[in-house]
Amino acid sequence: MKIRRLVLLVVALLLLLSQTPFAYRRYKLRRLSAGIQQLNSERRVPEPYGFKDYKGVVHVHSFLGGHSSGSFSEIIAAAQANQLQFVIMTEHTEKDFDTAAMTLQGMHGGVLFINGNEVSAPNGDRLLTLPGELSIAAYPEEFKNWDTPGLDGVEVYNVFTNAKRINPVVAFFDALWSKRSYPDLMFAFYLTRPDEGLKLWDQGLTRARLTGVAGNDAHANIGVSLKDSSGKTLLGIQLDPYDTSFRLVRLHALIEANKPLEATSLLDAVRAGHCYIGFDFLGDTSGFSFTAENTGERKIQGDEISFKPETRLRVQSPVPGRIVILKDGAILLDETGISGKELPISEKGVYRTEIYLPQLGMVANQPWIISNPIYVR
Ligand SMILES: [Zn+2]
Repeated sequence: MKIRRLVLLVVALLLLLSQTPFAYRRYKLRRLSAGIQQLNSERRVPEPYGFKDYKGVVHVHSFLGGHSSGSFSEIIAAAQANQLQFVIMTEHTEKDFDTAAMTLQGMHGGVLFINGNEVSAPNGDRLLTLPGELSIAAYPEEFKNWDTPGLDGVEVYNVFTNAKRINPVVAFFDALWSKRSYPDLMFAFYLTRPDEGLKLWDQGLTRARLTGVAGNDAHANIGVSLKDSSGKTLLGIQLDPYDTSFRLVRLHALIEANKPLEATSLLDAVRAGHCYIGFDFLGDTSGFSFTAENTGERKIQGDEISFKPETRLRVQSPVPGRIVILKDGAILLDETGISGKELPISEKGVYRTEIYLPQLGMVANQPWIISNPIYVR
């Protein structure tokens, strides 16, 4: 009897101890949340420069084409709850019907929907194909044929690819401790810079113009669950409901202020690289700008500008942070504690920028913003 009690006590103690790290992780999220609130209150949006910033998500699946059970109403409601202005649907294809024709398109509940597909090529390459013959290489780490004709972009970051690296046991206990209070912030534990995707994009940029986008790859089906022998879910934790997925990362499209947001203006902006990737769950990225100027020209990300001795780049961030400017994939400038930078350049090349928020501690090494490049020719 005495031994049994002792064993029980030890087991209880061990259980308690095993939970300490997760309690501490929850505390870290509370601090992160306070840091983000502070950051958002300090936002100073740079002067507008002829373009309006629209936020939305790319790479979303519904019940069409399998893999997901998400309904249209769930997707519309999640887009509204996130105050998104657009959602780019990319349904898996089906042999006997056209899933792109059947998915959400046009305006629904004040949100613009674009109807696209996620297509698998015979060699296994996957492409996001959008109206207007726009095609984006998905999952670049697995992408083989970089000479695919008409390739317009690369999905440099994908939430699902990132999520595959999550340890399910850790995620399970994180979810138990933190999901109720911090459903989207929890992802900060797992967020990783897409080194491989960025490297492949930088390599591709030496050969062709390619728009960088982030894919939410939202299926509402990533989760951990305990099932009994009949398959009934006993304890289920869904990590990627649309509402959460749409908060993590967004594509911000820049559209000329005198044009409305509609399918053509949005797709034109994506094709032109007039857009940037914002991990908005770490703070609102709206208003970020990356431009280039010389006498007589002012261009934005995605554009080409002619090289002249006075050509300069300008980065403006809504909050101070660490600004990294890369030329042809190599770091050219890396400065912390600034919200803007003007950089005269002395060479032709492909320039892009990444912004980090070291003041947020635990996510200091994960990018907050990834711009599209300016091509200095
Ligand atoms: Zn997908």
